[in-house]
Amino acid sequence: MAQETEMRAKKLVHEGSTIHKEKPFVYVLSSKVRTEYCDFCMKKGKFLKCSGCHYVYYCGKICQKDAWNVHKFECRNLKRIAPRTLPDAARLLARLIHILRKGGDLTKSYYLENCFRMYKDLMSHYPNIKGDQQRMEHFTSLCAVLFDFLGDDSLPNSAELMGMYGRMCINSFNIIDQELQCLGTGMYLGASVIDHSCNPNAVAIFEGPILHIRALKTLQYLDWSEIRISYIDVLNTTKDRQKELEAAYYFLCQCPRCLAPEPPEINAAACPNDQCDNYIDAESASANDKCGKCGAAITENFLELFKQVIEFTDIHLQNMKQLAYFDVCEICLQKQRGVLHKFNIKHVKTLDLAFQSSIDFQKWDFARTYALELVDAFHKYYGQMHPITGLLHLKLGKILVFEEKDAFAFDHLTKAYQILKITHGVNSTIFKEELIPLLQQTRMTVPR
Ligand SMILES: [Zn+2]
Ligand SMILES: [Zn+2]
Ligand SMILES: [Zn+2]
Ligand SMILES: [Zn+2]
Repeated sequence: MAQETEMRAKKLVHEGSTIHKEKPFVYVLSSKVRTEYCDFCMKKGKFLKCSGCHYVYYCGKICQKDAWNVHKFECRNLKRIAPRTLPDAARLLARLIHILRKGGDLTKSYYLENCFRMYKDLMSHYPNIKGDQQRMEHFTSLCAVLFDFLGDDSLPNSAELMGMYGRMCINSFNIIDQELQCLGTGMYLGASVIDHSCNPNAVAIFEGPILHIRALKTLQYLDWSEIRISYIDVLNTTKDRQKELEAAYYFLCQCPRCLAPEPPEINAAACPNDQCDNYIDAESASANDKCGKCGAAITENFLELFKQVIEFTDIHLQNMKQLAYFDVCEICLQKQRGVLHKFNIKHVKTLDLAFQSSIDFQKWDFARTYALELVDAFHKYYGQMHPITGLLHLKLGKILVFEEKDAFAFDHLTKAYQILKITHGVNSTIFKEELIPLLQQTRMTVPR
């Protein structure tokens, strides 16, 4: 018997297999999408408004009924504070308080047959939070909101509340849809065991609020201490990734990618000779240096221009953190042309925003151009086996189908197929309902 268990544990894990599936311990739908998605199952569709609070929407009676267990305690209060609304973090914390009070502290979430995690196993990072001015300000403002929302009696003491806040900050997942748009936030007790890597071997994908951890690489057997997902967007320099992880999760990332030297193009200038694809390390270059490949002169003016364009780009990337503006992206890209190397991370980030905003404005011509430029950069920085790379090929394929360039579309859809079958799975909605029909449509018209 023991041998049998061991055999099962040592079984080969194929890339693309789901190694863990879990319901959230607590979650909330983002208020930004609250009228478009069901508050319970997070599906898009026709809606029924809660007649108590007039605030939350459900896709139907079944979801409304299933949601009531948690919603009943907040419904009356949501109505009372209207027209004010509750910030998402406060709503999540209020739900956490309620769930713990109803015995949630005894919930066991299994990630293996005999391994589980409970609420108390989550790290609270109490001292870190206490020393973090930004988080403490956020916490103080949340306390005031919660006091108003729940009343003094139902509020735990402040140390307990801060423990909850810390666990929420450190262990929350962004719940994303299959196109990676954020729909909400949730805590998953079992999956919180998984550590971070900037070069992960697994990925978190969601079906509604249900979390799926999928293997991106074939593993000899399932060893949880070796499973890594990425907590952040890895389209960044090592320094910036480490800074972000340290600020949000209080650890210095020492993953193999962070320890390895960076690609030299990541901060580089383009060669001033537009026929040459070499990169120029502008930080160490001085006037009168020459391009190592074509011999073009690096002038003082060129180095000064590079500095200006980087500063200009920095300001606008910072301003567009919440919302990208197509015109601003275009201006940045014009300035970057011939000055920043095509793999310069700031150029890639600008292109990415330009691509997203051109899709929002249905400027397909621009979207196609940007996406084609992004392909190599995404393969370089995200890697081939990454949901973002797969989705780029899918979106590009879709645009090309729309433009009736079917043969070309077929190439990108085929690449999307190879990636999404691993990252999302053949049973995912995006795979079955978007990719497959598009592939069939182009396959029919592509000359053989
Ligand atoms: Zn629903
Ligand atoms: Zn309600
Ligand atoms: Zn790292
Ligand atoms: Zn050159």
